Amino acid sequence: MAVVIDTLNNDPRKAHEGAAAKAAVRHPEKAHRPDQAIARKPDWIRVKAPGSPRYAATRAIVKEHKLVTVCEEAGCPNIGECWEKKHATFMIMGDTCTRAGAFCNVKSGMPYALDASEPDYVADSVAKLGLSHVVITSVDRDDLADGGAEHFARTIRALRSRAPQTTVEILTPDFLRKPGALEVVVAARPDVFNHNLETVPSKYLKVRPGARYFHSIRLLQRVKELDPTIFTKSGIMVGLGEERNEVLQLMDDLRSADVDFLTIGQYLQPTRKHHPVMGFVTPDEFKAYEAVAMAKGFLLVSATPLTRSSHHAGEDFARLKAARLARLDTSA
Ligand code: SF4
Repeated sequence: MAVVIDTLNNDPRKAHEGAAAKAAVRHPEKAHRPDQAIARKPDWIRVKAPGSPRYAATRAIVKEHKLVTVCEEAGCPNIGECWEKKHATFMIMGDTCTRAGAFCNVKSGMPYALDASEPDYVADSVAKLGLSHVVITSVDRDDLADGGAEHFARTIRALRSRAPQTTVEILTPDFLRKPGALEVVVAARPDVFNHNLETVPSKYLKVRPGARYFHSIRLLQRVKELDPTIFTKSGIMVGLGEERNEVLQLMDDLRSADVDFLTIGQYLQPTRKHHPVMGFVTPDEFKAYEAVAMAKGFLLVSATPLTRSSHHAGEDFARLKAARLARLDTSA
């Protein structure tokens, strides 16, 4: 009997980690799934190949400080561009996720215990890097009683104390069945609270099993209720088989929750064991989504094939602030 395992093959960014790391099973729950052919990318999906000296410098800092980045763990296509600009998204609470999204390349399994020193060394690294804006995300930690809420809050507080000039954006799990967790995170007052819906509700069972669409909408709405000064943000991937009308309904749902910023990007299949790409959305269709979303009242929308929720996050934070001020001016 042939046993098929899901490995991260031939990733040049992991070459330094040796053969054992290369052969590590990243998605044991997907090992039994049939292979899905990876569709050829259209011409409009072109990324800058990683490898410039500035990219190498960022990579060296990340390795030196033993930071985990979602840029690497998720195999983000923008890594060449972002790391050249010294922009990375840091992942706290380990590199192993307790959920198993059909779209996601982050390793799944049982994570290690939390590292109590992590909030301080992440904050020290951000201070050393001199970042004006930082995005902090995490794996899902359903194994923890509070889903990791206190660890998020400690990280935000450490950043405020050690890197006071840096604005803080967090991209959180859904804290499903973790009563009181959201309140702990919001009380630490991040500048931007991002939680991604990932896809339309009809695709949740296949794409985001274990999550609940209306719970995620309510989570975002609750952030605004608790602290209206925090910008809220959410993102989806398209190309997973969703209908256009479903995307428009999702926009309405997010606006009902008073979400400020919507990101829409093309889903790309990380390995043959992941959900297949059901279609490539054209740049013109992305522009149309952006126009409709702006008309629905979002302060900011980013909708392009390579949009990812943390892509250009620093520049977008400045645009968010300007858009809020402009809206306040016109309503005065
Ligand atoms: S878009 Fe986000 S995850 Fe991707 S490389 Fe840039 S900072 Fe990292």
